[in-house]
Amino acid sequence: MKSPGGFIMEQIDPVCGMKVNPTTSKYKTIYKGKIYYFCSFACLKEFEKNAELYLREGPRKMPT
Ligand SMILES: [Zn+2]
Repeated sequence: MKSPGGFIMEQIDPVCGMKVNPTTSKYKTIYKGKIYYFCSFACLKEFEKNAELYLREGPRKMPT
């Protein structure tokens, strides 16, 4: 599916690096005034535990 003109920005899950669609994602949190989206509840919980780490060092690749 194409997004018209790329109007809806895909967000990157800061924990695992997956692309997340902000319009459909149920998992999000606000940290220091910025909204972060997640692919799963597990990533959301992980971010809440280690927010500073993920913002500083970027996503960790999860084993698939
Ligand atoms: Zn994730």
